Amino acid sequence: MEQYGAHRAMLYNIGQSSKDTGVRYKDVAGVDEVKADITEVMKMVLGDTRYQDMGAKPPRGILLEGPPGTGKTYLAKAMAGDSGLPFYSAVGSEFVEMFQGVAAARVRDLFKAARATAPSIIFIDEIDALGRARSAQADSGSQEREQGLLQLLYEMDGMKIDDKVLVIGATNRKNLLDEALLRPGRFDRSIYMGRPTVSNRVKILQVHAEGKPIPHEGSGRYPEEALLHQTAERTVGYSGAELAGLLNEASILAVRHQKMAIDLDLITEAIDKRTLGLSTGRLPDTEAKRRLATVEAGRAVVLALTPGIPQLERLSIAPRGPILSRLSFVYQEDYGGRPTGREHQMFSGAGSNAVEDTGPLGDYEIMCAMLVPMYAARATEIVFYGERGATLSTAPDIGRAGALAHWLVEQSSLHPLVRDLPVLHSMLPIENTALKFERHTARLIRTAYSRALDIIRERQDAIRTIAAELCDGSDLVEGSRIVELVRTTPVQKRDGPAGGDAAIALPREGESCEGSATFS
Ligand code: ADP
Repeated sequence: MEQYGAHRAMLYNIGQSSKDTGVRYKDVAGVDEVKADITEVMKMVLGDTRYQDMGAKPPRGILLEGPPGTGKTYLAKAMAGDSGLPFYSAVGSEFVEMFQGVAAARVRDLFKAARATAPSIIFIDEIDALGRARSAQADSGSQEREQGLLQLLYEMDGMKIDDKVLVIGATNRKNLLDEALLRPGRFDRSIYMGRPTVSNRVKILQVHAEGKPIPHEGSGRYPEEALLHQTAERTVGYSGAELAGLLNEASILAVRHQKMAIDLDLITEAIDKRTLGLSTGRLPDTEAKRRLATVEAGRAVVLALTPGIPQLERLSIAPRGPILSRLSFVYQEDYGGRPTGREHQMFSGAGSNAVEDTGPLGDYEIMCAMLVPMYAARATEIVFYGERGATLSTAPDIGRAGALAHWLVEQSSLHPLVRDLPVLHSMLPIENTALKFERHTARLIRTAYSRALDIIRERQDAIRTIAAELCDGSDLVEGSRIVELVRTTPVQKRDGPAGGDAAIALPREGESCEGSATFS
């Protein structure tokens, strides 16, 4: 009878037991806490008497929850692989896909087969396909699914401690699950498996780098470790599966480029291929390309000098599909504190390369400072190509900056700099208030644009060098090179009085709303 159950499960092509899944705990990286939790459950299921002596009941089911590719299946396989237990794996949709009336029978057979070879593990991937909330089922397969779900509940309720069968469900849509599945005695434990943090990405990359040609030098820790760390920093939001795929893509590119080992260029190409598609070739060396390079270099320089903005990763003008140029930043996900002028190494007052300590910056100050780089492209056009050099290509930035300035003034009553404004508003006639509002916005815009013009004028040499390197090289300049050039290229002295030295912040009441620069 027991053999019959196993046989039926095979017939339905579900719940096939595999003796060795080939995956071990050590292969699943960056999920140490989850592993500790699961090891404990495994001990209970396998009948560790210490738990029984303490009267602890083993959970019947574990629900692994989280986005696709975060290692839920992999971990379940590792549980079976490490413990050597039979592993019955099924996918929720398999139960209901084929014929009417078989879902319940399939569930029954699956549990029967697992009990027959206990201790064992049942793994049901995409359990939401079977265990969707009954109230949410309205399609043609709903009756079928409900039968399957009821059978699953029945099987789980009927399990005894002696059965020694652990049921693991995986889903990326826990919210769809029928509440009955989550009640005690069913899926008792729910474990969230999210996208890995930077340090966990390093660990996952280390697992998948095994057997791949990544150069080992010296102690063997460098440069492999450096490469994997840099890769981890650039892959914010990647799942474990995506990291594995990325290294694989880099290996394929290594063959294409006839390289002996994986390096950062290949990793970068693999990332770009994933996010932007294949490069559509280099732009021909024309005046238009040099102009694009100059404007983008101007924008990058101002960004490098703006506090509170993430570190520049690189600047590229290699076209990819409809995208002509791209500035990327190092995403600082694990960054807890607020940036300060000192932390942002490249921040300096206009006219000097000295690092200025501006103290901690609030969100409001950062947003005010953000206005300056938004005017950088237009300012570059004006400084390099004259008053008539402005083009429509830089207009979208200007539009966005205007909207931000407007919003900043609107929000200003929350800000300590102009806390007194609401009081004043209530005392002033409405038309006066509106005028004041417009004046404050205009002043903010003028100050920001004027600061952008000053920086571009002072940093013309650095901008020229970056633009030339962009055109000469592979249409790409690394962020570190931009920062180095900004830091080492002499700053051009301003002739007249600067308009941009004023702080980019809202004026206090009573201050003049007139700025010194004209807006073109
Ligand atoms: P999920 O079931 O969460 O959708 P999988 O377990 O199927 O994701 O993961 C797919 C692949 O991604 C695995 O086979 C493995 O190669 C890789 N992977 C995912 N997470 C990890 C991890 N934490 N450590 C190592 N590899 C991982």
